[in-house]
Amino acid sequence: MALYRDEAIVLRTQKLGEADRIVTLLTRRRGRVRAVAKGVRKTTSRLGARVEPFMHVDVQLYEGRSLDIVTQAETLGPYGSAIAADYGRYTAGTAMLETTERLSETEGEPAVQLFLLLAGGLRTLAEGSHDPGLVLDSFILRALSVAGWAPSFTDCARCGATGPHRAFAVAMGGSMCPQCRPAGAAAPHLHTLQLLAALLTGDWAVADASEDRRRREASGLTAAYLQWHLERQVRSLRLVER
Ligand SMILES: [Zn+2]
Repeated sequence: MALYRDEAIVLRTQKLGEADRIVTLLTRRRGRVRAVAKGVRKTTSRLGARVEPFMHVDVQLYEGRSLDIVTQAETLGPYGSAIAADYGRYTAGTAMLETTERLSETEGEPAVQLFLLLAGGLRTLAEGSHDPGLVLDSFILRALSVAGWAPSFTDCARCGATGPHRAFAVAMGGSMCPQCRPAGAAAPHLHTLQLLAALLTGDWAVADASEDRRRREASGLTAAYLQWHLERQVRSLRLVER
């Protein structure tokens, strides 16, 4: 049994017994890790406030047979209170943590890029410098790209024909030229596609200047794109387990 140290973001906590918690962490080097934090629900616990959702911590763990044990945690990014204090930030942040957990299905598999995206996203959310919904959608699009599912918002996702194109098909990977467009493809506004492209590349000047109705349309397409890929991922994992 060995002691190790890593940077981590707390994704989730669950009660365990009288005073302990099981914490789900996304660590920088070991990917997703579930560990026990002992005594953290006692009011005297200094560790307790540090291993709460949204917190970015430097953590020391002891390798256990089934679950590791948190022995120390130092705060690197105290995002918990700034995010929890605002409803819009809280719901966006919660969706970011859930998406991260779904995209890091295999425990112990390194996910450095996802870790860096999440740390940056939570910091932006806590600072309150951009609309929380935009921060969430930008995170989702970039996290899906890191997972190998980068959508296209300009050129045709199937044949590469230069865009912008009118049609958009979630199941085909994004924008569709007139030759490739499947029946029933969506036809989002050109400004919505420009907003989505800005969120994917982190062009905040364009994203911040967008209209509310374009944000709503972009958010709907982002959610549909995420859902489509998560359903397929879960299905492929079930096949692997058989
Ligand atoms: Zn095409």
